Formats: sequence, C-alpha cells, structure tokens
Amino acid sequence: MILYANCTECEEEILFRTGSLNRADLRETYGESLQLTCTRCLKADHYPLADLQARTSKRAFLLSALVLLIGTPAGLVYFWDYIGQSLVYASAALVCIISIPAGVYRILHSSEEKKVRAFNRSQ
Ligand SMILES: [Zn+2]
Repeated sequence: MILYANCTECEEEILFRTGSLNRADLRETYGESLQLTCTRCLKADHYPLADLQARTSKRAFLLSALVLLIGTPAGLVYFWDYIGQSLVYASAALVCIISIPAGVYRILHSSEEKKVRAFNRSQ
C-alpha cells in the first residue's frame, strides 16, 4: 500500500510506502505527523497523518505479470501432450494457463483495495 500527500510548495504527490494498515498503527510508529521530502522541489515538511491518503500499489499487477510470464511457458510445457490431442483439451489448457494469473491478480488486487479503503476510513 502506498500513502501520498501533496507537497505544500509545488503540489507534487509525495509517496510513502508502508505496511501499516491504519492511521492508529502509523501514529504508534511515527507520531502525529510524518516528515516527508518532495522529490521535485526537495522541500521537507511535516504532514499530519489525517492529510495522508492511501492508494493501491502496482504490486498485485507485477506479481500477476510474473506468474503469467513464468506460468505460460510452464503451462504450455506441462499441457503440451494434451494440447495436441484435441481442440477441447487445447481450450481447457489455455483457460487454465490464462485463469491462474488472472485469479492471482484478482485476489491480490481486491485484498489491497480492502486495505486502502480501511486506511482511508481510519482516523
Ligand atoms: Zn514540492
């Protein structure tokens, strides 16, 4: 999950990656505000935790892409004998090869979205 705040100087988004699930967790670790430095104008400032918003990271997408990249050749090798036998087996193999990375993406992405919603609702 990625947290972000808008720079007080140039409005650029300042990103902050965290494993904290809500503002109470973050408050225990960092106190009432976080010192963040803008990557564009390099201004460091304190941002109250209430001003931070969460959004999903691209981790779910990257992991799913990795599963697709590794899983597709592995699936083709594994199902190769069946693919040559008939169109029905070939179709079933293709559905398996495509649905596994899609399922991984859906599970990871929905889990991340739940965390983001919970964080943004937390006080
Ligand atoms: Zn800035």
